Amino acid sequence: MTARIGPNAVLQLAPAMDRIAGEGARRALFAPLGFDPLPDPTAMIDETRVAALHGALRRQHPENARKIAIAAGQGTGDYILANRIPRGAQSLLRALPARLAAPILTRAILAHGWTFCGTGSLTAKSGPPVVFTLADNPIIRGERALAPLCHWHAAVFERLFTRLVHPRAHAVETACCATGAPACRFEIDWRH
Ligand SMILES: [Zn+2]
Repeated sequence: MTARIGPNAVLQLAPAMDRIAGEGARRALFAPLGFDPLPDPTAMIDETRVAALHGALRRQHPENARKIAIAAGQGTGDYILANRIPRGAQSLLRALPARLAAPILTRAILAHGWTFCGTGSLTAKSGPPVVFTLADNPIIRGERALAPLCHWHAAVFERLFTRLVHPRAHAVETACCATGAPACRFEIDWRH
């Protein structure tokens, strides 16, 4: 069976690219990888094709790749808020102090991790800072870089914590498989 990841890893890149690089650039990037027309939003996608798309974005649009990945991560967070976390649970989380809301949101993220982590293995440590560790991150499998690459993942975490735990929550990828670390590591803090 093919290893798969949620379609937002592709779909949310599209509006971000259209806005930042233009629709023509988006179609030129997506088409060779079989993503033009855009994939079915209800079906999971082969994660190696998603990794190829994210890699091609970094190589073909080095000046805008980070900005596009962040916007796509924010869009993915918004999708999860609109479709995956019930409204009542969101109201409850927002009403709770951050230190109580954080572990509840963390458990919810772990439960849905397959949608944005594919076959990577996601674990978490409560905080602050809350630390998510994503081993064998499929989106950057085989990549080598001097600095962490996973802006899309960091933006997903940041959007969810900003909306549900604390408005000043900030996510930073402090270690990355692409720089030789055993796992990508994201720290989320709201105390400064
Ligand atoms: Zn990483």
